[in-house]
Amino acid sequence: VTARLLDGRALADALRAELSARVAALSREGGTPRLAVLRSGQNEAAAMYSASLERAARAIGVEAQPVVDRSDALLERIADLNADPLVAGIVIAQPLDGGPAAHRLVELIDPDKDVDGATPTNAGRLLRGEPAFVPATALAVIAIAEAHDVPIAGQRAVVIGRSAVVGRPVASLLLARDATVTVCHRGTGDLAAETCRAELLVAAAGVAGLVQRSMVAPGATVIDCGINPVAGGIVGDVAPDVADVAGAMSPVPGGVGSLTPVMVLRQTVESAERMSRGARAIGSTR
Ligand code: NAD
Repeated sequence: VTARLLDGRALADALRAELSARVAALSREGGTPRLAVLRSGQNEAAAMYSASLERAARAIGVEAQPVVDRSDALLERIADLNADPLVAGIVIAQPLDGGPAAHRLVELIDPDKDVDGATPTNAGRLLRGEPAFVPATALAVIAIAEAHDVPIAGQRAVVIGRSAVVGRPVASLLLARDATVTVCHRGTGDLAAETCRAELLVAAAGVAGLVQRSMVAPGATVIDCGINPVAGGIVGDVAPDVADVAGAMSPVPGGVGSLTPVMVLRQTVESAERMSRGARAIGSTR
């Protein structure tokens, strides 16, 4: 193994310590910030995501407020949470059961409290290169690169995946940092031809072992967002022996996934700090 390890766990620990101090200051000044985590029904993935977010919030002193209800009832709850001055962040754990489609509910979240960058307003701001709350996984990709001094500006970056939660926002963030960005997806004709040109390769396809070592240029940085369940745990989208050719590589587990909840909390703390200053949130034009 030659690739430098892009360690998400160590970075998450350091960020948690910094955020804990900022939350303590906010609590002293008036109010402990609260993060509302909404879900409906019995979906196991949504329940697990909520639980991990609530745990992560409490670990840094943020009050976690789980809200579990039918999705039509969540409609009214979101209005209350938008108006509550102690609620700094609102996140919807997907998928929701039945009722109004999830994207309709998401649209009701105040963009200033949208700490997982889920609303169309924040997606639009990000696309326009304006300050915005950003989907946490995409932020985690940038955080892990920057913390390890991985160059972005001027680099050829290739992103595999174009979802609204990972691929697209990662591409926007890289573009905002002056990378030259190619986005690949299921319709890409020759994936390997694209990935071999990458100086920075971000994999977010959800296909175990999609990126093989023959698809990576020697010395490239490879950041793996994949979380693919296999017997006995999870694996990423990148085959482990890619570490023999890559210059730096994030592991799964212990890479991007370790940082994602911390990024939700970082944006929650930013939101709380702005609210305590009486200012509108990042990117707000109101
Ligand atoms: P998605 O299914 O919504 O999107 C996958 C994207 O990859 C699509 O745009 C598709 O076109 C592309 N793709 C799929 N197969 C491909 C192939 N063979 N060649 C080229 N492109 C291909 O998935 P998502 O929600 O974006 O998640 C992607 C991965 O990231 C999943 O493994 C998911 O579990 C993981 N994820 C991780 C976190 C985290 O916290 N680290 C958060 C969200 C998602």
